[in-house]
Amino acid sequence: MIRVAMFDTKSYDEDSFRKNCPDEVEITYFPVKLNKDSVILANGFDAVCTFVNDTVDEEVANKLYDYGVKMIALRCAGFDSIDVKACYEKICVVRVPAYSPEAIAEHAIALLMTSVRRIHKAYNRTKEFNFSLNNLVGFNLYGKTVGVIGTGKIGKAFINICNGFGMRVLAYDKFPSEGIKAEYVSLDELLAQSDIISLHCPLTDENTHMINNGTIAKMKKGVIILNTSRGGLINANDLVDGIKSRQIGAACMDVYEEEGDLFFNDKSGHILDDDVMARLLTMPNVIVTSHQAFLTEEALDNISSTTIDNIVRFFKYGERSNEVCYRCEKYDECSSKRVKGC
Ligand code: NAD
Repeated sequence: MIRVAMFDTKSYDEDSFRKNCPDEVEITYFPVKLNKDSVILANGFDAVCTFVNDTVDEEVANKLYDYGVKMIALRCAGFDSIDVKACYEKICVVRVPAYSPEAIAEHAIALLMTSVRRIHKAYNRTKEFNFSLNNLVGFNLYGKTVGVIGTGKIGKAFINICNGFGMRVLAYDKFPSEGIKAEYVSLDELLAQSDIISLHCPLTDENTHMINNGTIAKMKKGVIILNTSRGGLINANDLVDGIKSRQIGAACMDVYEEEGDLFFNDKSGHILDDDVMARLLTMPNVIVTSHQAFLTEEALDNISSTTIDNIVRFFKYGERSNEVCYRCEKYDECSSKRVKGC
């Protein structure tokens, strides 16, 4: 029996993992996040299964190793929550690199459409029998320039939709790909020319706060910023300043740097301790969803089946399927070719 401790679980996780779990895997569901205070719960398990706001820093990685945990199975694509270097040669880290890029791309478009056509305001108005159209003037996406930062699986799906809208698509990526239906430009060119900027790159040490006072100043006045990638890509204080100065026309955020204590939880009826988020939520041109972009039936099903497959392959056959290896520059390209890791 392969014993797995799953952290930060919600009812939808349990539903989809129960559906796809074979007899040889036994999952214990812990609603708490994995961090230095809760890591003791992992004692005696073969693997831990974590999500975006669990924290495996060096201290937690070493404790997991001491407890005999051999695998961290991320049930998400991003792995910025894991100190992969600290895990190297101790604990195998695997992830779900592509469970449904379209789910995230479509959510980014949903946020964009909501923002530019003022759907969030219209929805509230008509619920109150207010059928006035005052202050609901939007703009067409057709003919606008969208800048896509990160042209991997999600960025590509997003670009395809934007092309369908008849938008001009610019792209910037550290590792440009073939076959992307967009014009690759430098980051500065993208910032200067885009009416809408959408972030689809992973969060790394190098690009933390890539959207900051300096880069915001290089953008077109009134730009719309979409972030469905990771909160840490944006300096949220600078975002607030950019919106207050009217340099930024609107922001749509599915992720937030300090989301760990907020998102995925019902905080209604509580005082919000986070002043930056509180300020952002007062702004009529800011739309926040709480890391919801992945939440489709198709994506949840792919997440649970791939995670279980990653676990079974490792413990039954010694395969390191979908491994995140800190020694490989493009993480997901090494796993299928190696058995023992780099
Ligand atoms: P991917 O690995 O397929 O693509 C990422 C792309 O970003 C690659 O082409 C890479 O070369 C590029 N890149 C890396 N560093 C860069 C940099 N500094 N500047 C510009 N480009 C850079 O990943 P993906 O599946 O497309 O996912 C992208 C990100 O989306 C994930 O890392 C994750 O953080 C986020 N995500 C969010 C949700 C959600 O629910 N909101 C769900 C899944 C993934």
